[in-house]
This record gives sequence, structure tokens and C-alpha cells, in this order.
Amino acid sequence: MTDPEALPSPAGWICTVCGAGVPPGDGQSGPGSCVACGADPQAIEIAAAILLVAGRGAYEDLSKLLAGDDAPKGRILDLTGDAALSRMLERAAGYRAGRIVRQAAGDTGTTPAGPFRLPVEDATATFDHLLLRNLLFCAEDPWAVVDEIARRLAPRGTFVLQEIFPWPIPAITAESPPGEDGVARTRPVSGGVRYPLRFEIGADVIDRFASWGVMAEFYRPGLALDPAYRRAVLVGERS
Ligand SMILES: [Zn+2]
Repeated sequence: MTDPEALPSPAGWICTVCGAGVPPGDGQSGPGSCVACGADPQAIEIAAAILLVAGRGAYEDLSKLLAGDDAPKGRILDLTGDAALSRMLERAAGYRAGRIVRQAAGDTGTTPAGPFRLPVEDATATFDHLLLRNLLFCAEDPWAVVDEIARRLAPRGTFVLQEIFPWPIPAITAESPPGEDGVARTRPVSGGVRYPLRFEIGADVIDRFASWGVMAEFYRPGLALDPAYRRAVLVGERS
């Protein structure tokens, strides 16, 4: 049982990666990072989504999920590149981390290049848990990304895709118009890198997943705690 004395102030969060208290932010940028495990707000958000889809919402944080009876047992492919998340999830036997090779905005080339494929050697391999970040808005063909994610999910397999979605989420996915200066827009991701903003992703991605037998939805774990929260995570499970 959690010691009430150990809880952070109401403006802070419990770290969904390790369970430590996360100090409140400065009121402008939301909560800070976890001093215990280094998880930043993005990692805390994606961990909350994992707790929902892999832990059925019954666990406080990933360390408890991984130590419990419901610890993910199958193949976990983590393509988020998130170090704090990786340090925790390595406790799961079936965990592996990978990287999607792509180029930042301003480089020539595509993001990712060509038809989208997960970076695994076996083109038919499927996974029980897929963790993904920043894929749809910058893809040349977001539908190809959706199809590849769906194709790679084992029966009952789950995915979590984290990126900045428009809010409110439009009904229809549409190409992102250039900025007022006519220059193609970009979106900052971690580490000061920017990716091309090619698409404003809409709720019709849910229908595309459904056509594969994957029930997907937008999940907004921080909404109740942060009135300025505007992010969303896309989560889903194959039937
Ligand atoms: Zn933590």
C-alpha cells in the first residue's frame, strides 16, 4: 500500500514507470521528470497507456505490472527509443528494443523511407506488444503505417502509439497544409529534432485498424490531472 505521506502534491504525478512521486512542473510545461527513474512526461504518458492495454488498468506502475501475475509474457517490440522506458521493460523476458531509421526534417529523403516496415528481420514475425512513437504524422503514407502495425500484432496483441495528435481530433485524416510562409511545416520531437508534419491524423485511423480486426481508441491519461493537457495516445488490441 502506498504511504500517503509519500504522495506528491496534487499538481504532481505518480511516475507510471517506477512508482515514485513526480514533482509538479512550473505551471507552464506540465509535470517535470521523475527523479527516481528519469522518465519524462512522455515516458510517463506512454507507460500509463501500457498499464491500460497490457495491465487492464489494474496496476499503479510498470514496475508492479512486471513483478505481478499479469506481467507481459509474449514478444514485446519497443520502437520508442525511450531510455527510461527501456530500462524498466528490460525486466520482461520477451522484451527487445529496436530503432526506426529515418531522417529529420530538412534532410532529403522520406520519413520513414519507402513502404513502411517494422525494423525486424523476419517479415512475418508478429508481436504481443508493440510500442511506437512519432510515426503517423510524418509518414509519407500513414495508412501503410496503420496496416503494418495491424499486420504485426499477434492475436490479442496490443499496441501503443504515442505522438502529438491534433486536438480536437478531426474526423478525417488530411494532408497538413504548408505554413503561412509556404514552407512545409515540421513538428519537434525529442532531442531538438524535427520531423516533417505531413498529415493531421483523424479519427478515421480507428476505422482502418478495425478493418484489420484491431480495436483502437485514443487514450488521454493526463486529462484529469492537467487542465492544459492536449495530448493523446493511440492504443489498440487485436481480436
Ligand atoms: Zn519513475
